[in-house]
Amino acid sequence: MEARLYNKSEKNYVNCFLCAHHCKIADGKRGICGVRENKGGTLYTLVYGKVIAQHIDPIEKKPFFQFQPGSRSYSIATVGCNFRCLHCQNFDISQMPKDQKQILGEDVTPEEVVHEALETGCQSISYTYTEPTIFFEFAYDCMKLAKEKVEELRTELRVARDHVWSDIQKQEKDKLMAEDDKFRAKDELQEIIDEINKKLEGLFAKKEKEIMS
Ligand code: SF4
Repeated sequence: MEARLYNKSEKNYVNCFLCAHHCKIADGKRGICGVRENKGGTLYTLVYGKVIAQHIDPIEKKPFFQFQPGSRSYSIATVGCNFRCLHCQNFDISQMPKDQKQILGEDVTPEEVVHEALETGCQSISYTYTEPTIFFEFAYDCMKLAKEKVEELRTELRVARDHVWSDIQKQEKDKLMAEDDKFRAKDELQEIIDEINKKLEGLFAKKEKEIMS
């Protein structure tokens, strides 16, 4: 896939602006990260949708403080990195394009990432393990899609809630529902929601076990 955030230069050179290295790359060469290649004067990302790691992590593994505490985060990475830290605990994937001259990974679409995140009950998607800037194009498409999906679900939830609420109000107006019944209806609705949540938790735990095994 053609990369974003670069421009073309003289003699088939390209200038990548994705990170602070600002690599000037000759035809047939790659940038410092090892995953962006100049082919005939066009810059390509070599890791779009090539996911080398995907895990369900507790959010507490991420460098955040008090961000959705207790939740799970669907975490993905591709190979490559624009750093070369001596203490890197993921050096086998971060330095793979440079040390092993390989770009490995499972072909995955943004739709699949978002679907898996939702299916496994994750409240967020983390771009992690290597420096995620270098798979920007893929991360960007996942983020856009995830946001659209969350908006869709919110709308569905609002419509369902409004429907139930207007039904309760109508029954109340028509004197079909006493104050006690109104509270009972609300309690029953809450019980149904709790039951669904419990079932979903079971499904999420099963899926997590499958992925981790
Ligand atoms: S993303 Fe890669 S190619 Fe682009 S400037 Fe950074 S190290 Fe260079």
